[in-house]
Amino acid sequence: MPDSLAQAREEVALANRILANEGVFDAFGHVSLRHPENPEHFLISRHRAPELVQPADVLVLDLDGKAVVPTPYRLYGEVTIHASIFQARPDVMAICHHHAPAVLPYAIAKVEMVPVYHLGASMGETVPFWDSRDDFGATALVVVDPAEGKSLAKALGPHSMVLMGRHGATVVGASLRELVFRTIYTTRNAELQTQAKLLGAVHPLSPEEIRKAAAYNLRPAPMERAWDLWAKHLAEREGRPAAPAAAVKTEPAVAARPPRAKPAKAPARKGAAKKKSASKRKGR
Ligand code: MN
Repeated sequence: MPDSLAQAREEVALANRILANEGVFDAFGHVSLRHPENPEHFLISRHRAPELVQPADVLVLDLDGKAVVPTPYRLYGEVTIHASIFQARPDVMAICHHHAPAVLPYAIAKVEMVPVYHLGASMGETVPFWDSRDDFGATALVVVDPAEGKSLAKALGPHSMVLMGRHGATVVGASLRELVFRTIYTTRNAELQTQAKLLGAVHPLSPEEIRKAAAYNLRPAPMERAWDLWAKHLAEREGRPAAPAAAVKTEPAVAARPPRAKPAKAPARKGAAKKKSASKRKGR
């Protein structure tokens, strides 16, 4: 969690540009972060394409989706997605709403999204489907009315992602890193699920595999490692030096995982030998 408002603004701007650079966002889509000091407020860019968002564009809104300090800037039409979910889910610290082309076919065909590889497990066991027609009939498909936001938040329930019929998806996380990780890997999972379906039957992860893989991947070190890579891609694209990677302390990895019968070092995991060098980051 960023420890100051200035840092939070930087990270929200960076998350916007990372998700644009990784192909999740185009002109549309948005990311929000609960205020680091006030859980009744959240940070989100002003009405702007994500690729263009800079820290100064990031505004502070309340849980009714109103700017806390009067601003001359236009807000996103869909701020109620964020306000409604932050209201309904105290555990949620960050939210992303997007229309990624890989995910849209699932929002259109109403085919269930399922984790088909380990990193896709970050979506959890269930991705519910919300259809604006159910409660609101024919709309412009955008979620602009607080009643629509509340209905969407209800459909999301305790889950990590919700598909939105003929529109897109909304993803939530316990941190900005977790949110970006989940958003990118659920989008990749959608591509892989579609490709696997073209080859034959889709054989998703079992519920137990989903729980284990999600717990394994959603630890600080893997999330930070991925964030650093995406931040480097972005820095290259923007022609500036990448920020030095934050040091992630060696964590008691076992504690974050479900209990095992054997000591953690016993299983011969692929890549286990590389772990030491992976955690020793090269300064960039
Ligand atoms: Mn939208």
